[in-house]
Amino acid sequence: MVYKIFLVSIGYVQENILNEISIGVKEVFRTISVTILSRNVPLPKNSSDSYRQQYNSSIILDFLKKLFSFSIQNKVLGITSVDLFVPELNFVFGEALFGGNVAVISLKRLFPEFYGYSSNHKLFISRAVKEAVHELGHCFGLGHCKNKKCVMHFSNSILDTDIKEKYFCTSCKSKLNFLVKSIT
Ligand SMILES: [Zn+2]
Ligand SMILES: [Zn+2]
Repeated sequence: MVYKIFLVSIGYVQENILNEISIGVKEVFRTISVTILSRNVPLPKNSSDSYRQQYNSSIILDFLKKLFSFSIQNKVLGITSVDLFVPELNFVFGEALFGGNVAVISLKRLFPEFYGYSSNHKLFISRAVKEAVHELGHCFGLGHCKNKKCVMHFSNSILDTDIKEKYFCTSCKSKLNFLVKSIT
């Protein structure tokens, strides 16, 4: 079975940002193709919570699932600039359908400016790539990893994201290889 990864913007995201994320994701998944979809997906209206001034990532995932009734080997990662949440948490960097075909990440909290630091494009992109690979890892059926350097380590805060690398640790990598092959 041939796996494919698709990136799609939800709401407005600059084209160069999508391109740079796609390059970083490709460096990790290597044998799996990564394509940026030219269509722009609007933010589903019912995902907006005006009181929290955030968007419900689970509603966005449902929306993506309906929109892309792709087969399971095609993983669609939505990328959005708005802040995401799930009801039980203050915010999330992203969310994925575990073992499914859709995931979403938010760029909002990846900008150094969000934390009062000066702009750093390289740092911002490296964070976005890590979050993208992490959520895609969930789509491929990987859970969280205890290894702080592994991309599958859970990010509670941006510090965790900065500590981890964009790559899978040896253990997650072999799990991924197994999972990918086991579905073929
Ligand atoms: Zn996770
Ligand atoms: Zn790992």
